[in-house]
Amino acid sequence: MSTELFNVADIFGENVFNDTVMQERLPKKVYKNLKKTIEEGKELDLETADVIAHEMKEWAIEKGATHYTHWFLPLTGVTAEKHDSFISAPQPSGKVLMSFSGKELIKGEPDASSFPSGGLRATFEARGYTAWDCTSPAFVRQDAAGATLCIPTAFCSYTGEALDQKTPLLRSMEAINKQALRLLRLFGNTTSKKVTPSVGPEQEYFLVDAEKFEQRKDLIYTGRTLFGAMPPKGQELDDHYFGTIRQRIAAFMRDVNIELWKVGVTAKTQHNEVAPAQHELAPIYAEANIAVDHNQIVMQTLKRVACQHGLKCLLHEKPFAGVNGSGKHNNWSITTDDGINMLDPGKTPHENTQFLLVLTCILRAVNMHADLLRESAADPGNDHRLGANEAPPAIISVFLGEQLEDVLEQLISTGEATHSLKGGKLETGVRTLPELAKDATDRNRTSPFAFTGNKFEFRMVGSRDSVASPNIVLNTIVAEAFADACDVLEKADDFDKAVHDLIKEYATENQRIVFNGDGYSEAWVEEAERRGLPNIRSMVEAIPAMVTDTAVELFERFGVFTRAELESRAEIQYETYAKAINIEARTMIDMASKQFLPAFIKYTKTLADTVNAVTAAGADASVQKACLDEVTALMAETKKALDALVKVTNEASAKEEGAVQANFYHSDVVPAMEALRAPVDKLEMIVDKEAWPMPSYGDLIFEV
Ligand code: ADP
Ligand code: MG
Repeated sequence: MSTELFNVADIFGENVFNDTVMQERLPKKVYKNLKKTIEEGKELDLETADVIAHEMKEWAIEKGATHYTHWFLPLTGVTAEKHDSFISAPQPSGKVLMSFSGKELIKGEPDASSFPSGGLRATFEARGYTAWDCTSPAFVRQDAAGATLCIPTAFCSYTGEALDQKTPLLRSMEAINKQALRLLRLFGNTTSKKVTPSVGPEQEYFLVDAEKFEQRKDLIYTGRTLFGAMPPKGQELDDHYFGTIRQRIAAFMRDVNIELWKVGVTAKTQHNEVAPAQHELAPIYAEANIAVDHNQIVMQTLKRVACQHGLKCLLHEKPFAGVNGSGKHNNWSITTDDGINMLDPGKTPHENTQFLLVLTCILRAVNMHADLLRESAADPGNDHRLGANEAPPAIISVFLGEQLEDVLEQLISTGEATHSLKGGKLETGVRTLPELAKDATDRNRTSPFAFTGNKFEFRMVGSRDSVASPNIVLNTIVAEAFADACDVLEKADDFDKAVHDLIKEYATENQRIVFNGDGYSEAWVEEAERRGLPNIRSMVEAIPAMVTDTAVELFERFGVFTRAELESRAEIQYETYAKAINIEARTMIDMASKQFLPAFIKYTKTLADTVNAVTAAGADASVQKACLDEVTALMAETKKALDALVKVTNEASAKEEGAVQANFYHSDVVPAMEALRAPVDKLEMIVDKEAWPMPSYGDLIFEV
């Protein structure tokens, strides 16, 4: 760790093969060709690729790079990379040359058989290809391995099916680009050439001391604690949120920022989050595919730098029961290449017809496909958060705020919106404070899908997950809504009347999805049920949404997923769930049999010896005896629950992979895990701390 002061502008992007570097190093014609590919999707010829590869290699070697890697996001949820050095076969002189060809830049061929494919690719057809995504810049990563040139790539099978997150994301971006341009043209916009979704993901995470982490098998194997009683203090004082950042953490954050800035990630906001030991990092928003790649870099960097500081970064959605878990707020808007944000309502939204159409299209999209959005946030860890009164409920609804809700109400009731509520001035009662203009709408923290001024914030996403899935869904469902609207409006004789009618129709028909109240309340769960909104409580219940006829039709219409791709992804989701729960259950079994029960046995021996000694001395040993009885009773409960968990986990593993197995893990294994945890957590409250075989919650979250 260095404490040297520096100028951020000097280091920002220094390890990125960005536009400036390309302009400097590439011949004009090559640069132009590449720009055409990046901006207009023109195919890149091999000759051009050769020149780019050569320059990229020279540049990377100057940065100290010895290797390059195609960097991709398979369906394991974490990035994958295979490193090749730049060296070529030795020359007659015995020396090696450094080489990197256009072919090596644009195409890689990792053996795909060990990546999840959900049955898309039989293992004997192991070929998979990585293809250079030139819209996300290559960068040099410096770490213990030295320096490596990382080339963002898409990953697909021999037959062209997507085996990753990037391919469908890029497809969905094309879909929304096309449909949004159609819509803009209808409103007389002839200048915008491209529309891209902008994404800003806020990343939450926990930090714990590495030495304590190493003593917890549950953290090591599963990323979350599977046992643990609450310490006397939790988050009830709200004293951690936005609190002063402790020096050890501040030093960590500083190094994270430096690393991120060097590779062009715009790390912007950092603060302490609600739970003790919980923090957040948010970058400035970027084009969706870059934001998705950058978020992966953020997660990797948090983990790597934590290790350098004797810390461990926990990205799990629920590392500790009893305090808040971690999520990722996915801020999303739609922006044109000439800087128009299609989600900007302006000062008088009631007059902004284009905005009202965009808004009501989004309401329609979310209402029609709430189940898909919910599924896009499904993750074994997120089952602990959604609907648990800390994160958004598992019910999808849209928060619009007073101003927009009022405009829509005017539209629905009278067919005409005549005014927009204003924010007014903030009254503080103190003359020396500046007069502040208030936003027209207050914030709402309990909504899963909230309009926040000029963007929507989708708050269900899990902290560990890639933000690709939610953005694939958002882009595609909104593309569909735009396409349907354009189909009607392009045929209309009287455009103004037609658009007015359409806005009213969409607002009226999709009213049920709008909810501005407290999303955490029990009353909302009941109200949502009355409105017929789906309340999908768990991952296994969410997965079927991917393969309904509606979903297949939607994704095939816009060329984002084929039916086979969707079915394979559903399959992978089931497998992911079953495997995650299986690992958790087996870790619990391991800890209970090898750590807890032996510790309890020793402890009861100490207690029994004490009872005997005290009784022999002629004194009253009733307290010691009562303590011994309580511990042995809970031990018996532990042993019984352990045996039950072993039995049910074996039963689960023996089942055939897929929906049935995943559902069995959910319905039978998860409750058996809870049954084992309960007596152990009770014991933690009464057993001597010295005798407890691992660091407690208090040690982990209050002593970082
Ligand atoms: P909050 O107050 O909601 O916690 P933060 O400042 O932590 O807000 O994060 C807001 C995120 O939203 C940032 O990543 C920011 O860049 C992003 N953002 C801002 N405007 C837009 C926009 N128009 N489209 C997409 N993301 C945006
Ligand atoms: Mg934030």
